[in-house]
Amino acid sequence: MESATKEPHFVLVPWQGGISHIIPMTDIGRLLASHGAAVTIITTPANAALVRSRVEDLATTTPLPLPPGASAGAAGTVTVTAIPFPAVEAGLPEGCERLDLLRCVVAGMCHSWALGLARELGVPCYIFHGFGAFALLCIEYLYKHRPHEAVSSADELVNIPALPAFECRVSRLQLPPHFAPSTTMGGGTMQEIREFDVAVDGVVVNSFDELEHGSCALLAAATGKTVVAVGPVSLCRSPHLDPQAMTTDDARRVMEWLDTKETRSVVYVSFGSAGCMPPAQLMQLGMALGSCHWPVVWVVKGADSMPDDVKKWFRETFDSKKCLVVRGWAPQVAILAHRAVGGFLTHCGWGSTLEAIAAGMPMATWPLFAEQFLNERLIVDVLGVGVSVGVTKPTENVLSAGQLNGSRADVEAEVGMEQVMKTLDRLMDEGDEGEQRRRKAQELKAKANGALEKGGSSYMNLEKLIQSSVS
Ligand code: UDP
Repeated sequence: MESATKEPHFVLVPWQGGISHIIPMTDIGRLLASHGAAVTIITTPANAALVRSRVEDLATTTPLPLPPGASAGAAGTVTVTAIPFPAVEAGLPEGCERLDLLRCVVAGMCHSWALGLARELGVPCYIFHGFGAFALLCIEYLYKHRPHEAVSSADELVNIPALPAFECRVSRLQLPPHFAPSTTMGGGTMQEIREFDVAVDGVVVNSFDELEHGSCALLAAATGKTVVAVGPVSLCRSPHLDPQAMTTDDARRVMEWLDTKETRSVVYVSFGSAGCMPPAQLMQLGMALGSCHWPVVWVVKGADSMPDDVKKWFRETFDSKKCLVVRGWAPQVAILAHRAVGGFLTHCGWGSTLEAIAAGMPMATWPLFAEQFLNERLIVDVLGVGVSVGVTKPTENVLSAGQLNGSRADVEAEVGMEQVMKTLDRLMDEGDEGEQRRRKAQELKAKANGALEKGGSSYMNLEKLIQSSVS
């Protein structure tokens, strides 16, 4: 459709099922707006407040539906629109049907319906997986060459030579769910997600070109698609201005607690927005954190649904001088930027990984599931900024609060207290090995910041993305 003016206007549709998808896509919206694009973020009513709080300073908030003829967004602003999903059935808001306004769609991986919308409007459609380029490259290799089908047992290593100078090996058990039979995600099958992935025009990744040893370019070559690295997106705001960072009691408590600690003395422990462990594993980890030499901030999800004896153990075991347990939402980006934090025990979610990279923070890696075992290989073997805890199988008991019960509560711990403590010793090591990791982490931090500065790789990629949407 012809339009009077060709102003860049992006519609972003984050997958509403995961906060770790909503946060980076909202940040991508901020970045696009900071480059002068108009941005509309479509989300569900339940997520609208979160999205709005992160773009408040740039937002023009529209109730649904937009008044006829109203603009859905002006240059440099972010409009947040809340509609019930699935959007196809709910009907898109009027602003999004104004074809003259829309130039480019970026959709979360479960929103395959967005492709039909983009095609109808004749605008490009990009996918956002929430994964890094290296993991996506490995997944592409696995789809094309299927090496996992040749191994006879789940423990056997699968070789994924996605990067020329580095052989990535993970067991079949550690592969992302794409390669497990009949996995579904966000109401669709992995097959549907794959078909969407194959059909889109390009991929937006929260990464930067210098980070993943050429993975973005290799992914582009392997898929024939445009791969646009625009991150680390968490750098689009100062950690101390993060609305979620400072407004909750939990958040304030953590930051005040960190202020009392020595520089680089604290281990920060978090398993993402939803990761929780079976009680037996949680207790082994807790015993290690309670006995190690360092003060610890430990974010525990699903604690309320733990058996009563575990809850009692928690109350009795942790002295808040040594170990600060956060049961709610931790201000992660601000914690990682705090001078007192010297290491991060992480589940290797890609959002957390990039936030650690952006903060120059060495990691101890404890992948739980999804593509996290691939991220672990990147962090430890390729980038040299992590120490592996040595987890061999996915955590089966990753449950959202309220679901912990019955036999699943009896799952044995794979990782013992001693193993965790040894890993933390290496992570916080002040000798050569630790120093080398810290130096590499600091180098990556500098590159990460450079990528988003004027003229940097992610800055230029955002410019190109915007230019391509209007040309
Ligand atoms: N996060 C946070 N506070 C928490 C838990 C998570 O700020 O208490 C944020 C974290 O900073 C990251 C996201 O949630 O941006 C988690 O994303 P990631 O990809 O690491 O893991 P997932 O939640 O998808 O497993």
